[in-house]
Amino acid sequence: MVRLAGVNKHFGDLHVLREIDLEIAPGEVVVVLGPSGSGKSTLCRAINRLEPIDGGVVEIDGKELPAEGRDLAALRSDVGMVFQQFNLFAHKTILENVTLAPTKVRKVSKGEAENRAKTLLDRVGIANQASKYPAQLSGGQQQRVAIARALAMDPKVMLFDEPTSALDPEMVGEVVEVMSDLARDGMTMVVVTHEMGFARRAAHRVVFMADGEIVEDSTPDAFFARPSSDRARDFLGKIL
Ligand code: ATP
Ligand code: MG
Repeated sequence: MVRLAGVNKHFGDLHVLREIDLEIAPGEVVVVLGPSGSGKSTLCRAINRLEPIDGGVVEIDGKELPAEGRDLAALRSDVGMVFQQFNLFAHKTILENVTLAPTKVRKVSKGEAENRAKTLLDRVGIANQASKYPAQLSGGQQQRVAIARALAMDPKVMLFDEPTSALDPEMVGEVVEVMSDLARDGMTMVVVTHEMGFARRAAHRVVFMADGEIVEDSTPDAFFARPSSDRARDFLGKIL
């Protein structure tokens, strides 16, 4: 579903992604771990080409992502992205936030988009908030709207970059629960997170990055019980 081969990225002299090879099968849930600055966000952004890459190939569902143009927009809409900051449109209602892209980009009719949005808002547990504005919702609720908004485009892959890091602790669980439901329903997911409970329960694979490289790629059980590199042991020692 997702294939990266020989992907490199520099910021000036800094080599942020080094020869990244990564294949993710349909329905697979991959949690990306690694110290700050190791390149996790850049990897996510490279997958949908929010970040231009310096070399290598990114394919979504067998199609190579071009550097720009109409094909890029079409392929990018196959990749849903949820960030640490929810980035909702402040002056639009929750329902409008979820219907905007399908009506504007996919040319779905307003009625159809609204029906689908209501189903998605129900799925993330906030059907009763549809007519409110983002500022009237808690952080956890806003993040669940952001997930519904991404799902409204029927993505083939969902990328999550630290979706719970900006939330008050008591709201982390409700967002993790929505992500776990998605994983159970077979969504292909790449998740950068510090929620080790989610990694253990929901991930099929853990990818550990350090200094722009994938250092380990294994099952959660193997990674947490027997990390094979010093870097990963050091990382786990600090966070567990
Ligand atoms: P964190 O856990 O702190 O979110 P990360 O693993 O997501 O870290 P990235 O954000 O991918 O790391 O950054 C990787 C490296 O690239 C870091 O050294 C960062 O300072 C650098 N970097 C990221 N974005 C830019 C940019 N736009 N310009 C210059 N350097 C950048
Ligand atoms: Mg990051």
